[in-house]
Amino acid sequence: MSTLKLVYSDGYYLPIGAHVFPAEKYRLVHEQLLKDGIAKPADFVEPQPASDQDILLVHTQEYVSKLKNGTLSPFEEAQMEVPYSPELIRAFWLAAGGSIKAAELALENGIAFNIGGGFHHAFPDHGEGFCVIHDVAVAIRRMQKDGRIKRAMTVDCDVHHGNGTAAIFAGRDIAGLPLPSHTFRAKPGTSPDKSSIRVTPNPEPDVFTISLHQANNYPAWKPPSSIDVNLPDRTGDADYLKWLDNALSSGLRQFEPDLICYIAGADPYKEDQLGGLSLTIEGLKKRDELVFRVAKARSIPVMVTYAGGYARRVEDTVTIHSNTVVAGKEIFQL
Ligand SMILES: [Zn+2]
Repeated sequence: MSTLKLVYSDGYYLPIGAHVFPAEKYRLVHEQLLKDGIAKPADFVEPQPASDQDILLVHTQEYVSKLKNGTLSPFEEAQMEVPYSPELIRAFWLAAGGSIKAAELALENGIAFNIGGGFHHAFPDHGEGFCVIHDVAVAIRRMQKDGRIKRAMTVDCDVHHGNGTAAIFAGRDIAGLPLPSHTFRAKPGTSPDKSSIRVTPNPEPDVFTISLHQANNYPAWKPPSSIDVNLPDRTGDADYLKWLDNALSSGLRQFEPDLICYIAGADPYKEDQLGGLSLTIEGLKKRDELVFRVAKARSIPVMVTYAGGYARRVEDTVTIHSNTVVAGKEIFQL
Protein backbone atom coordinates (compact mmCIF):
# COMPACT_ATOMS: atom_id res chain seq x y z
CA MET A 1 0.00 0.00 0.00
CA SER A 2 1.21 3.50 -0.83
CA THR A 3 1.86 6.03 1.88
CA LEU A 4 2.65 9.74 1.75
CA LYS A 5 6.40 10.31 1.25
CA LEU A 6 7.69 13.88 1.32
CA VAL A 7 11.41 14.59 1.08
CA TYR A 8 12.33 17.86 2.77
CA SER A 9 15.14 19.62 4.60
CA ASP A 10 15.43 23.12 6.08
CA GLY A 11 18.74 23.10 4.13
CA TYR A 12 16.77 23.61 0.88
CA TYR A 13 16.69 27.33 1.68
CA LEU A 14 18.69 29.18 -0.98
CA PRO A 15 20.90 31.93 0.50
CA ILE A 16 20.33 34.45 -2.31
CA GLY A 17 19.24 37.56 -0.39
CA ALA A 18 16.39 39.74 -1.65
CA HIS A 19 15.40 38.03 -4.90
CA VAL A 20 12.33 37.37 -7.04
CA PHE A 21 12.86 33.67 -6.23
CA PRO A 22 11.14 33.18 -2.85
CA ALA A 23 13.90 31.12 -1.22
CA GLU A 24 11.79 30.60 1.89
CA LYS A 25 9.01 28.86 -0.05
CA TYR A 26 10.22 25.35 0.81
CA ARG A 27 10.02 26.05 4.54
CA LEU A 28 6.61 27.72 4.10
CA VAL A 29 5.23 24.73 2.15
CA HIS A 30 6.55 22.38 4.86
CA GLU A 31 4.80 24.51 7.50
CA GLN A 32 1.53 24.73 5.58
CA LEU A 33 1.38 20.97 4.92
CA LEU A 34 1.66 20.38 8.67
CA LYS A 35 -0.60 23.26 9.71
CA ASP A 36 -3.41 22.22 7.34
CA GLY A 37 -3.15 18.58 8.39
CA ILE A 38 -2.20 17.52 4.85
CA ALA A 39 0.91 15.80 6.23
CA LYS A 40 2.17 14.50 9.56
CA PRO A 41 5.76 14.91 10.79
CA ALA A 42 6.30 11.17 10.17
CA ASP A 43 5.53 11.63 6.43
CA PHE A 44 8.71 13.66 5.94
CA VAL A 45 12.06 12.12 5.03
CA GLU A 46 15.31 14.06 5.44
CA PRO A 47 17.56 13.83 2.36
CA GLN A 48 21.34 13.44 2.22
CA PRO A 49 23.32 15.63 -0.20
CA ALA A 50 24.10 13.99 -3.55
CA SER A 51 27.67 12.75 -3.86
CA ASP A 52 30.02 14.41 -6.35
CA GLN A 53 29.91 11.12 -8.25
CA ASP A 54 26.12 11.49 -8.60
CA ILE A 55 26.43 15.11 -9.79
CA LEU A 56 29.05 14.01 -12.36
CA LEU A 57 26.53 11.63 -13.94
CA VAL A 58 25.08 14.79 -15.53
CA HIS A 59 27.51 17.68 -15.06
CA THR A 60 31.04 18.13 -16.37
CA GLN A 61 34.10 17.77 -14.13
CA GLU A 62 35.18 21.28 -15.08
CA TYR A 63 31.87 22.86 -14.04
CA VAL A 64 31.72 20.88 -10.78
CA SER A 65 35.28 21.99 -9.93
CA LYS A 66 34.37 25.62 -10.58
CA LEU A 67 31.34 25.34 -8.29
CA LYS A 68 33.29 23.65 -5.52
CA ASN A 69 36.28 25.95 -5.74
CA GLY A 70 34.40 29.19 -6.33
CA THR A 71 36.09 29.84 -9.67
CA LEU A 72 33.12 30.64 -11.92
CA SER A 73 33.73 33.55 -14.26
CA PRO A 74 31.66 36.71 -13.69
CA PHE A 75 29.70 35.80 -16.84
CA GLU A 76 28.98 32.31 -15.57
CA GLU A 77 27.80 33.67 -12.25
CA ALA A 78 25.60 36.28 -13.95
CA GLN A 79 24.08 33.57 -16.16
CA MET A 80 23.00 31.62 -13.02
CA GLU A 81 21.11 34.74 -11.86
CA VAL A 82 21.74 33.77 -8.23
CA PRO A 83 24.79 34.96 -6.26
CA TYR A 84 27.50 32.36 -5.76
CA SER A 85 28.40 31.17 -2.26
CA PRO A 86 29.59 27.85 -0.82
CA GLU A 87 26.25 27.69 1.05
CA LEU A 88 24.38 27.99 -2.25
CA ILE A 89 26.34 25.05 -3.64
CA ARG A 90 25.52 22.99 -0.54
CA ALA A 91 21.81 23.73 -1.01
CA PHE A 92 21.93 22.53 -4.63
CA TRP A 93 23.81 19.31 -3.75
CA LEU A 94 21.14 18.72 -1.09
CA ALA A 95 18.28 19.38 -3.55
CA ALA A 96 19.83 16.81 -5.92
CA GLY A 97 20.11 14.32 -3.06
CA GLY A 98 16.44 15.05 -2.30
CA SER A 99 15.41 14.22 -5.84
CA ILE A 100 17.43 10.98 -5.75
CA LYS A 101 15.62 10.06 -2.52
CA ALA A 102 12.23 11.02 -3.98
CA ALA A 103 12.90 8.87 -7.08
CA GLU A 104 13.83 5.88 -4.89
CA LEU A 105 10.72 6.36 -2.77
CA ALA A 106 8.50 6.77 -5.84
CA LEU A 107 9.77 3.45 -7.23
CA GLU A 108 8.98 1.70 -3.92
CA ASN A 109 5.76 3.54 -3.14
CA GLY A 110 4.16 4.62 -6.44
CA ILE A 111 4.47 8.35 -5.71
CA ALA A 112 6.86 10.57 -3.75
CA PHE A 113 7.51 14.30 -3.55
CA ASN A 114 10.65 16.34 -3.24
CA ILE A 115 9.45 19.52 -1.48
CA GLY A 116 12.09 21.34 -3.55
CA GLY A 117 14.17 20.72 -6.68
CA GLY A 118 13.01 20.94 -10.29
CA PHE A 119 16.01 23.02 -11.41
CA HIS A 120 15.32 22.45 -15.08
CA HIS A 121 17.43 25.31 -16.52
CA ALA A 122 20.77 23.81 -15.42
CA PHE A 123 22.99 22.47 -18.23
CA PRO A 124 25.86 19.95 -17.96
CA ASP A 125 28.49 22.70 -18.07
CA HIS A 126 26.75 25.79 -16.72
CA GLY A 127 23.85 27.09 -14.63
CA GLU A 128 21.06 29.36 -15.84
CA GLY A 129 17.88 31.00 -14.57
CA PHE A 130 18.27 30.31 -10.79
CA CYS A 131 19.29 26.70 -11.54
CA VAL A 132 22.80 25.48 -10.70
CA ILE A 133 22.48 21.67 -10.63
CA HIS A 134 19.84 19.69 -12.58
CA ASP A 135 18.56 17.61 -9.67
CA VAL A 136 15.97 15.73 -11.76
CA ALA A 137 18.52 14.65 -14.37
CA VAL A 138 20.91 13.58 -11.59
CA ALA A 139 18.15 11.47 -10.02
CA ILE A 140 17.26 9.83 -13.36
CA ARG A 141 20.88 9.00 -14.21
CA ARG A 142 21.45 7.61 -10.68
CA MET A 143 18.33 5.38 -10.92
CA GLN A 144 19.56 4.10 -14.29
CA LYS A 145 23.06 3.51 -12.95
CA ASP A 146 21.64 1.56 -9.99
CA GLY A 147 19.60 -0.57 -12.40
CA ARG A 148 16.34 0.60 -10.78
CA ILE A 149 14.96 1.94 -14.09
CA LYS A 150 15.82 1.85 -17.77
CA ARG A 151 13.57 4.61 -19.09
CA ALA A 152 12.17 7.80 -17.61
CA MET A 153 9.78 10.51 -18.81
CA THR A 154 9.97 14.12 -17.65
CA VAL A 155 6.67 16.06 -17.62
CA ASP A 156 7.60 19.70 -17.17
CA CYS A 157 4.65 22.00 -16.39
CA ASP A 158 6.68 25.01 -15.25
CA VAL A 159 5.70 28.11 -17.27
CA HIS A 160 9.27 28.24 -18.62
CA HIS A 161 10.64 25.78 -21.16
CA GLY A 162 12.78 22.96 -19.73
CA ASN A 163 15.86 23.90 -21.73
CA GLY A 164 18.40 22.15 -19.51
CA THR A 165 16.37 18.94 -19.48
CA ALA A 166 16.02 18.98 -23.27
CA ALA A 167 19.74 19.61 -23.78
CA ILE A 168 20.87 16.96 -21.30
CA PHE A 169 18.69 14.16 -22.63
CA ALA A 170 18.85 15.01 -26.32
CA GLY A 171 22.63 15.02 -26.41
CA ARG A 172 23.25 11.34 -25.95
CA ASP A 173 20.66 10.07 -28.38
CA ILE A 174 19.99 12.51 -31.16
CA ALA A 175 23.24 14.34 -31.73
CA GLY A 176 23.70 14.66 -35.46
CA LEU A 177 20.04 14.38 -36.40
CA PRO A 178 18.49 17.41 -38.09
CA LEU A 179 16.25 19.17 -35.56
CA PRO A 180 13.47 19.95 -35.32
CA SER A 181 12.36 17.55 -38.01
CA HIS A 182 8.63 17.74 -37.62
CA THR A 183 6.11 20.35 -36.58
CA PHE A 184 2.38 20.04 -36.56
CA ARG A 185 -0.62 21.90 -35.28
CA ALA A 186 -3.80 20.42 -33.92
CA LYS A 187 -6.92 20.71 -36.11
CA PRO A 188 -8.39 24.19 -36.30
CA GLY A 189 -11.22 24.68 -33.85
CA THR A 190 -9.86 22.16 -31.38
CA SER A 191 -7.04 24.22 -29.95
CA PRO A 192 -6.20 27.70 -28.77
CA ASP A 193 -4.83 30.05 -31.41
CA LYS A 194 -1.13 29.78 -32.06
CA SER A 195 -0.58 26.82 -29.73
CA SER A 196 1.52 24.14 -31.27
CA ILE A 197 3.03 20.83 -30.42
CA ARG A 198 6.46 20.03 -31.75
CA VAL A 199 7.38 16.36 -31.67
CA THR A 200 11.03 15.53 -32.18
CA PRO A 201 11.68 11.93 -33.22
CA ASN A 202 14.37 10.36 -31.10
CA PRO A 203 14.98 6.70 -31.92
CA GLU A 204 15.30 4.60 -28.79
CA PRO A 205 15.67 7.38 -26.25
CA ASP A 206 16.18 6.38 -22.62
CA VAL A 207 14.58 9.61 -21.38
CA PHE A 208 11.54 11.16 -23.05
CA THR A 209 11.07 14.85 -22.31
CA ILE A 210 7.75 16.76 -22.38
CA SER A 211 7.59 20.50 -21.78
CA LEU A 212 4.43 22.65 -21.67
CA HIS A 213 5.40 26.27 -21.49
CA GLN A 214 4.58 29.82 -22.54
CA ALA A 215 6.12 30.32 -25.99
CA ASN A 216 6.92 34.02 -25.42
CA ASN A 217 9.01 33.66 -22.30
CA TYR A 218 12.46 32.74 -21.01
CA PRO A 219 14.54 30.98 -22.25
CA ALA A 220 14.98 32.63 -25.64
CA TRP A 221 16.69 29.52 -27.03
CA LYS A 222 14.57 26.43 -26.48
CA PRO A 223 16.44 23.28 -27.47
CA PRO A 224 13.90 20.66 -28.61
CA SER A 225 12.29 18.37 -26.04
CA SER A 226 10.74 15.10 -27.26
CA ILE A 227 7.43 16.99 -27.12
CA ASP A 228 7.23 20.77 -26.76
CA VAL A 229 3.84 22.40 -26.28
CA ASN A 230 4.24 26.09 -27.07
CA LEU A 231 1.37 27.96 -25.44
CA PRO A 232 0.28 31.49 -26.34
CA ASP A 233 0.17 34.25 -23.74
CA ARG A 234 -2.74 34.09 -21.30
CA THR A 235 -3.69 30.48 -21.99
CA GLY A 236 -6.30 29.57 -19.36
CA ASP A 237 -7.27 26.43 -17.43
CA ALA A 238 -9.44 24.67 -20.01
CA ASP A 239 -7.06 25.01 -22.94
CA TYR A 240 -4.03 24.19 -20.80
CA LEU A 241 -5.62 20.98 -19.51
CA LYS A 242 -6.53 19.91 -23.06
CA TRP A 243 -2.97 20.43 -24.23
CA LEU A 244 -1.53 18.60 -21.25
CA ASP A 245 -3.87 15.66 -21.82
CA ASN A 246 -2.90 15.66 -25.48
CA ALA A 247 0.85 15.75 -24.72
CA LEU A 248 0.63 12.97 -22.11
CA SER A 249 -1.41 10.72 -24.42
CA SER A 250 0.94 11.38 -27.31
CA GLY A 251 4.05 10.80 -25.17
CA LEU A 252 2.77 7.59 -23.62
CA ARG A 253 1.77 6.23 -27.03
CA GLN A 254 5.38 6.60 -28.13
CA PHE A 255 7.24 5.69 -24.97
CA GLU A 256 6.79 3.44 -21.92
CA PRO A 257 8.67 4.91 -18.96
CA ASP A 258 9.58 3.12 -15.74
CA LEU A 259 9.34 6.46 -13.89
CA ILE A 260 7.63 9.81 -14.53
CA CYS A 261 9.41 12.89 -13.18
CA TYR A 262 6.77 15.57 -12.82
CA ILE A 263 8.14 19.12 -12.63
CA ALA A 264 5.21 20.92 -11.03
CA GLY A 265 6.10 24.59 -11.43
CA ALA A 266 3.68 26.98 -9.72
CA ASP A 267 4.38 29.75 -12.24
CA PRO A 268 1.70 29.09 -14.92
CA TYR A 269 -0.50 30.88 -12.32
CA LYS A 270 -2.27 34.02 -13.59
CA GLU A 271 -0.76 36.15 -10.79
CA ASP A 272 2.84 35.07 -11.42
CA GLN A 273 5.43 37.83 -11.82
CA LEU A 274 7.57 35.87 -14.29
CA GLY A 275 4.79 34.07 -16.12
CA GLY A 276 2.24 35.07 -18.74
CA LEU A 277 -0.28 32.23 -18.63
CA SER A 278 -3.66 32.54 -16.90
CA LEU A 279 -4.18 29.40 -14.86
CA THR A 280 -6.14 29.64 -11.62
CA ILE A 281 -5.19 27.93 -8.37
CA GLU A 282 -8.03 25.43 -9.03
CA GLY A 283 -6.81 24.87 -12.59
CA LEU A 284 -3.30 24.14 -11.35
CA LYS A 285 -4.66 21.53 -8.96
CA LYS A 286 -6.60 19.93 -11.85
CA ARG A 287 -3.31 19.89 -13.79
CA ASP A 288 -1.65 17.96 -10.95
CA GLU A 289 -4.60 15.56 -10.73
CA LEU A 290 -4.41 14.89 -14.46
CA VAL A 291 -0.72 13.97 -14.35
CA PHE A 292 -1.26 11.75 -11.31
CA ARG A 293 -4.37 10.09 -12.74
CA VAL A 294 -2.55 9.21 -15.97
CA ALA A 295 0.46 7.84 -14.07
CA LYS A 296 -1.69 5.81 -11.70
CA ALA A 297 -3.89 4.38 -14.48
CA ARG A 298 -0.77 3.00 -16.15
CA SER A 299 0.95 2.00 -12.90
CA ILE A 300 3.92 4.25 -13.61
CA PRO A 301 5.66 5.56 -10.48
CA VAL A 302 5.80 9.34 -10.30
CA MET A 303 8.24 11.59 -8.47
CA VAL A 304 7.41 15.26 -8.05
CA THR A 305 9.64 18.34 -7.86
CA TYR A 306 8.57 21.97 -7.48
CA ALA A 307 10.59 24.23 -9.83
CA GLY A 308 9.44 27.89 -10.11
CA GLY A 309 6.72 30.00 -8.51
CA TYR A 310 6.81 33.80 -8.30
CA ALA A 311 3.26 34.79 -7.41
CA ARG A 312 2.80 38.38 -6.26
CA ARG A 313 1.62 36.93 -2.96
CA VAL A 314 4.01 34.22 -1.78
CA GLU A 315 1.04 32.57 0.00
CA ASP A 316 -0.40 31.72 -3.43
CA THR A 317 2.81 29.96 -4.50
CA VAL A 318 2.77 28.04 -1.23
CA THR A 319 -0.89 27.06 -1.71
CA ILE A 320 -0.26 25.87 -5.28
CA HIS A 321 2.69 23.72 -4.15
CA SER A 322 0.74 22.36 -1.15
CA ASN A 323 -2.19 21.52 -3.42
CA THR A 324 0.12 19.32 -5.50
CA VAL A 325 0.51 17.12 -2.41
CA VAL A 326 -3.26 17.22 -1.83
CA ALA A 327 -3.85 16.13 -5.45
CA GLY A 328 -1.36 13.27 -5.03
CA LYS A 329 -3.08 12.14 -1.85
CA GLU A 330 -6.50 12.20 -3.51
CA ILE A 331 -5.53 10.36 -6.67
CA PHE A 332 -3.26 7.79 -4.97
CA GLN A 333 -5.61 7.53 -1.97
CA LEU A 334 -2.80 8.11 0.54
ZN1 LIG B 1 9.65 28.75 -14.18
